[in-house]
Amino acid sequence: MTISSNATRREPHGHGAHSASHPHWELRRNALIWSGETPVAANLSPFADEMVKWLQQKGPLSVVTQATRNHPLGYTNPYTYPAATISAGLGAIINAIVAFCKSTEPMDPLEAEIQRIRLHSELAINIARFCEVTIKQLLHCTNVPLAMYRRATLGQLLAQDCPACRKAGMNTHDISLLGALAHRYFECLALEHCVIDHMKIVGDRRKMDAAHSEAPILNPRDAAASRSDLFEVLEESGYGLGHMADHIGTYERKMLQEVGLIIASWPTPPSLNTLSRVPVRIQEDDPRLPPRSHSGESSAV
Ligand SMILES: [Zn+2]
Ligand SMILES: [Zn+2]
Ligand SMILES: [Zn+2]
Repeated sequence: MTISSNATRREPHGHGAHSASHPHWELRRNALIWSGETPVAANLSPFADEMVKWLQQKGPLSVVTQATRNHPLGYTNPYTYPAATISAGLGAIINAIVAFCKSTEPMDPLEAEIQRIRLHSELAINIARFCEVTIKQLLHCTNVPLAMYRRATLGQLLAQDCPACRKAGMNTHDISLLGALAHRYFECLALEHCVIDHMKIVGDRRKMDAAHSEAPILNPRDAAASRSDLFEVLEESGYGLGHMADHIGTYERKMLQEVGLIIASWPTPPSLNTLSRVPVRIQEDDPRLPPRSHSGESSAV
């Protein structure tokens, strides 16, 4: 059985700093939509992958509605529906910003400033929420303990204290759940050098949420100045969003591939050979690995 139904693992981990910061996980039953005891589809939708393409004007954003939820084979992933809503909302905000910035309609300077700040704030908050919910949608398919991500902000999904080491009274260290998603699919290296870029999304959101001196201040000049300031913000934030969505989108594609292999070979688990097409990182103690051979026994006839 490749799909573990519980979240137990040997803790604390002992394979060095790398696997300590990127804990290993397995897909669980929740990664699949079931018709009775047969898996029929993946229980996730590739919102981040679509967002990357949408930002490049190469494709639409999926719409997932209440009608899908009511369908007997609809997603049971509790993050899929809010992810669709936030994704559509974020698309609408980006479109509204482009419309505002490109407009040459005369506008009262104060009115333009209020619009600039409102749209900037909605953009920053929704980019962070989009990254959060699309990461959680993937985590729901894994045996990563729910307590580690249910209430986690984006910042905590990027780095949080290792609960196992804290509990064991050992020196604690950071765990990255985004890194954990990357780890299974050999994508850690692509994440190594961009922590600062990622933290910028977290920082932008905090500024917008904050009611202190860092919060944006109205600075009425003329509408054109407000419009061009906001356009700069859009370019910069759009880059940050595209960058993060590119990482998450990669894990979405790999997870969909892995789930596809499970469905195709059901009820037999996919062979290690097939999994190597994704590729999937296999734990040393994975039951699918052949037992260490010992001499004196042969199955030869
Ligand atoms: Zn630890
Ligand atoms: Zn790793
Ligand atoms: Zn990055």
